[in-house]
Amino acid sequence: MNPNATRSEYLFFSLPEKLLFYFLAALSLGYMAKQVWERVGLWMQGRPTGPVRAGRQYCMPTVEGLKKWWGKVLPFVLLQKKVRSSRPRSGAPMHLMMFFGFAALVVATTLLAINTYSPFKFHQGAYYLIYEALFDTLGLLLLIGLGWAIIRRWTENKKQLTASRGRFEPISQEKVDFYVLCLLLLITANGYLLEAARIAAQPQPWDTWSWVGYLLSRPLGTFGVVAYKIAWWFHVVLVLGFFCVLPKLRIRHILLAIFSSAGAPDVPMGKLRTIPMEEVEQTEQIGVKFARDYSRWHLMSLDACMECGRCTEVCPAWNVGKLLNPKQIVQDLRGSMQSGTEVVASLNDEALWQCTTCNACVEACPVLIRHVDIIVDARRNIVSEGGLSGSAALMLRQTASTGSAWGQSGNREDWMRDLDIPLARNGVEFEYLFWVGCAGATDPGSVKTTKAVAELLTKAGVKFACLGNEEACTGDPARRVGEEFLFQEQASQNVSVFQRYGVRKIVTACPHCFNSLKNEYGDFGAESIEVFHHTQLLQTLVTKGALLAATPERGSVVMHDPCYLGRVNDESDAPRALVEGMVNPEFHSQKTRCCGAGGGRMWMEEPPHERPSNARVDQLLATGAKTIALGCPFCKIMLDASVKQVDEGINLVDLAELLQDANK
Ligand code: SF4
Ligand code: SF4
Repeated sequence: MNPNATRSEYLFFSLPEKLLFYFLAALSLGYMAKQVWERVGLWMQGRPTGPVRAGRQYCMPTVEGLKKWWGKVLPFVLLQKKVRSSRPRSGAPMHLMMFFGFAALVVATTLLAINTYSPFKFHQGAYYLIYEALFDTLGLLLLIGLGWAIIRRWTENKKQLTASRGRFEPISQEKVDFYVLCLLLLITANGYLLEAARIAAQPQPWDTWSWVGYLLSRPLGTFGVVAYKIAWWFHVVLVLGFFCVLPKLRIRHILLAIFSSAGAPDVPMGKLRTIPMEEVEQTEQIGVKFARDYSRWHLMSLDACMECGRCTEVCPAWNVGKLLNPKQIVQDLRGSMQSGTEVVASLNDEALWQCTTCNACVEACPVLIRHVDIIVDARRNIVSEGGLSGSAALMLRQTASTGSAWGQSGNREDWMRDLDIPLARNGVEFEYLFWVGCAGATDPGSVKTTKAVAELLTKAGVKFACLGNEEACTGDPARRVGEEFLFQEQASQNVSVFQRYGVRKIVTACPHCFNSLKNEYGDFGAESIEVFHHTQLLQTLVTKGALLAATPERGSVVMHDPCYLGRVNDESDAPRALVEGMVNPEFHSQKTRCCGAGGGRMWMEEPPHERPSNARVDQLLATGAKTIALGCPFCKIMLDASVKQVDEGINLVDLAELLQDANK
């Protein structure tokens, strides 16, 4: 390696030319900074969420948070975790090429700038040669990725996949995206041409290390100097022009994705924000009326949206032809943030109530936008102003008056008749509180699961007790519909019962109760209680040899992961440990698809052809299995209705029931 190898910048440029360049660069960067400042001003209208410093709060990165942020930036930005896990059909390989190619060029340009404008001169010798070979190669990734994206936009009408129904959308955004891709392609290609012209104008023995530029330099011959000057100024005009438009285009996600990932709230996917009463007294409102009522991070994340449509592709409501389009919700809220109009006026009211809070969109979003937070916060405001009517409003009244979402009071012990079920109020000693839930206590199909769990726990010698009529709805449906303070009442009441009996561990067969108890009850005094889904406790008992796993014919059982277990709480191993040889449908584990019951949808009217459970049943039956294994009473109710339309010979059984049969 030649120790003298290096290169000079600003070859053949006079001082006035250099000054002109600096002037144009200052103009372009200044204009970009002005636009960024205006956007930051919009975000800063939001509710503070970050660490407090000298009486002020920040949503931007701070030194204290750097460690945590690095834990998010590394997987989600640098390693592109979400993009890698999405399906190739969604353009993941193309996006990865563009990201890594672009990142490489940013690193290369930064190193070059440090060498040029600082006293540290390191751009020489072996380092320089490796730099040239490496970045010449990595730049090709960007070139190929951009070419791929342009062809894809040209040949596929991707917009059709996620464009909002019943809404006029100008085609211009698609055209803008296309032209921006072309601009980036031109900048990258011209970068290579510039390198080729430099090599042709001032050849050096080490030029073969810049192998792409070297190959392109051959035909330039004696035109090197002229070509270099033209390519240099062309590059400057393109790059400075790109800086000017960057904050206005959705390509800004290149930078904003770093901030949205780094500053994403450090709370579980299944936890909604607890609204303190003091906040209501101060603001005299509940939930979000204007975009400024969201947190600063939520507002910034709206701007980070890359409009990729991944959220919409996985939305169960969208996939059965409803209006709900999570990508459009983000766009509409961005409009509301900009114009200052009321959030409800910007969103489609009907679509807002179609959300099942399944979190599929949240799981899919590469920039970690929390759609469920923003939808529920908007619902909270509507509910607080009396804007909810119909069967969902009835559910709220029932929960408030009877402690049951189904409005049944005093019958939570009916399922225990003829069984010897220990009750906490009788002073029995217990390790686990068996939380039965509204459906588990009263819905006939779910009662089967409840009885199976009780029988298995008894057989395995687990000391457990139930609360019977002292148990009340966790408040999960109320919270997700938007009735925050009914949820808080239910939670406080239940936690006082836990405290009365010294509850330390809870097991439940309902993933919605499981999620609320595990992730949300901590705000109400239950932070030290360990919460288990019944499949988790049963898995432990099978592992210990206290119970036998079920062994049906291989391939005869397919697993449907409930959203609030498989995705929201990332538990998909425990169910599979209970039944050997189960098959998976196309979408499973964290990428499971919703039955349509969550977010209070269980209590809302729905035309049969618009049930998300229809699509899910099709996916499950496509495996050829005749038994569908479940772990959620809501899924059982919803899928049952769809299965009956398709094939009466299909069994819908909870995993506990399969285990019960195996342990007879
Ligand atoms: S919200 Fe996320 S997933 Fe949806 S379009 Fe925007 S970036 Fe893509
Ligand atoms: S939470 Fe589920 S139903 Fe709601 S917008 Fe997201 S994907 Fe659609």
